[in-house]
Amino acid sequence: MSIRAHGQHPGGNGGAPAALVFESVSKHYGSTVGARSLDLDIPAGELVTLIGPSGCGKSTTLRLAAGLERPDQGAIRVAGDVVADRRRFVEPEKRRVGLVFQDYALFPHMTVAQNVEFGLDRLARGDRRARTGEVLDLVRLGHLAGRYPHELSGGEQQRVALARALAPRPAVVLLDEPFSSLDESLRAQVRRDTVATLKEAGTTGVLVTHDQTEALSVGTRVVVMRRGVIEQADTPEKVFEQPATRFVASFMGDADFLPAHVHRALLTCEIGVVSTVPGWANSEADVDVVLRPHEVALQPDPNSPARVSAVEYHGAFVLHYVTLASGRTVRSWQPHTVRHPIGTPVAVTVAAGTTPTLLLGDRAITSPPPGSSLAPRPSVPLQLS
Ligand code: ADP
Ligand code: MG
Repeated sequence: MSIRAHGQHPGGNGGAPAALVFESVSKHYGSTVGARSLDLDIPAGELVTLIGPSGCGKSTTLRLAAGLERPDQGAIRVAGDVVADRRRFVEPEKRRVGLVFQDYALFPHMTVAQNVEFGLDRLARGDRRARTGEVLDLVRLGHLAGRYPHELSGGEQQRVALARALAPRPAVVLLDEPFSSLDESLRAQVRRDTVATLKEAGTTGVLVTHDQTEALSVGTRVVVMRRGVIEQADTPEKVFEQPATRFVASFMGDADFLPAHVHRALLTCEIGVVSTVPGWANSEADVDVVLRPHEVALQPDPNSPARVSAVEYHGAFVLHYVTLASGRTVRSWQPHTVRHPIGTPVAVTVAAGTTPTLLLGDRAITSPPPGSSLAPRPSVPLQLS
């Protein structure tokens, strides 16, 4: 992805070209930004999740890859072949790209088998049959090959759409919020089935979702978009634990922000010492610290100015809102057995071992900013005479 130079591929997939590459791809609709200077490099076999608020450009990104939109600028490659740039534009059906939409877009007057066979018109009839049988087995629908879409459940229709997308052996399958029309109980199962099928087929996938848990749990990589721009493309752990921007920190999970100060590697804010910051021994800077509710500890303390201001029961845990002396709020997850009544004075601390993200403005910083240097401490104590 953007953390790797374009066209380079790490070992492990036999030097196969990346399944999908975007190089500085932009797309506008009149004055509306659809996608701006997108850089993406998705190695073969990865399942990438693409997440961001409504209108941030997720569908535009998929449509550009599929050939349903033309980029204004930049180049797109599928399995090593340029499919769009200033000179070339390969039609959707000639790209090795499969598509699964939210509404599945199955042909209602065709059987399951006919729906799957539809994209295989370049094969001989016998091969078409065989391949259709193969992918229907892959999604465990072989026994329903003769049914019509309206005779299937939502989850089964979704599997037909996936089988149809996989049938022509695409280099990459693009899935645009494929589970959002399924109800909650079905969703988790269909999601697991889909991920298992993509893995079994060894197919690279890009899955658009607006569900943060889905993005983190399904993706080998998570791409977070905002206003047509990629804010961060990283492993799920990095996106959650080391967000690159204030937006990513607050969009991917709950986060509170407190003004904080680093002085010679000691990070403090209004709740006291937060942690030490390795590499900042000779620095001093004002920052914001990102705190997530699972990192914030509470202890009833009659001498503390902080007060519990709201309590939300979430089943497995109880979210406590605490108003600090400054009027700012932090949130803390407590086990489901703990409930501090509203108004309880509580001491707020940060759980040991937490290495919180620091922000300078809206961007995360990992090293001291320019102008924050202090004179090094003398290594030998001064002799006073
Ligand atoms: P997402 O899928 O993340 O919700 P989209 O990629 O559909 O977002 O849209 C990105 C932006 O482009 C939005 O502001 C949207 O209104 C606009 N947009 C998308 N398609 C068109 C179109 N065909 N014509 C004009 N504007 C469009
Ligand atoms: Mg969309």
